[in-house]
Amino acid sequence: MALLDIEHLSVNYGAIQAVRDLSLTVQEGEIVTLIGANGAGKTTTLRAVSRLLKPRGGTLRFAGRDLTRLPPDEAVRLGIAQSPEGRQVLARQTVHDNLELGAYTRRDHAQIHADIEQQYDRFPRLRERRAQPAGTLSGGEQQMLAIARALMSRPKLLLLDEPSLGLAPLVVLEIFGILRELNAQGVTMLLVEQNARLAMQHSHRTYVMEAGQVTFTGPSDQLVNDERVLHAYLGG
Ligand code: ATP
Repeated sequence: MALLDIEHLSVNYGAIQAVRDLSLTVQEGEIVTLIGANGAGKTTTLRAVSRLLKPRGGTLRFAGRDLTRLPPDEAVRLGIAQSPEGRQVLARQTVHDNLELGAYTRRDHAQIHADIEQQYDRFPRLRERRAQPAGTLSGGEQQMLAIARALMSRPKLLLLDEPSLGLAPLVVLEIFGILRELNAQGVTMLLVEQNARLAMQHSHRTYVMEAGQVTFTGPSDQLVNDERVLHAYLGG
């Protein structure tokens, strides 16, 4: 059984059909990448999984459970966490408060603090800046905070929207290294990325989206050299 199983998903914004008849699976332990040109429907797909958007049709199942009617906080409780595009950390709150907020569905207070320490071990720069307003962090640090905050709900599935956006190449490599480590520790991921080559190099399987639909899918190491995929990705 797939950890995440999306079947025939469609999502509309008014008259705009952003996702059409999309089917996709993520197996436990995988990193799966979703690539495609601007406006292809990648973010919309992630937001349907995290229940921030209501699909028009199709089914979403997580570990066999039907997600279709669950509110977003229930999805978090089940083990789905999203690290959103543009990071969206709470700029005026401290780093530490942002991490506490990531645990908002949990009641095990002692364990929450142990988990915050674990995030500080994983991201030492966040520990140094724990009392600093999150809005004063660099782009890369905010990205780390967004990932750490998502991890505070102890997700089984981490949804990542453009973790490399706007970051310097070395910082991007650092973040992808951390994602790999997390995956080795058992976190399954669905990753949306503009940087197609990098994302394919760091994932097991890839789905290519065009105009709301999946047009190619396969093992990332095969698709990364596929002319048709590069063509589709470049939108030409
Ligand atoms: P990008 O790589 O540019 O972030 P994307 O693949 O993530 O693109 P989406 O953000 O999912 O694409 O958008 C898919 C389509 O839905 C686009 O045509 C977009 O303009 C449209 N869309 C997204 N959000 C809304 C909204 N709130 N209202 C109306 N249309 C929207």
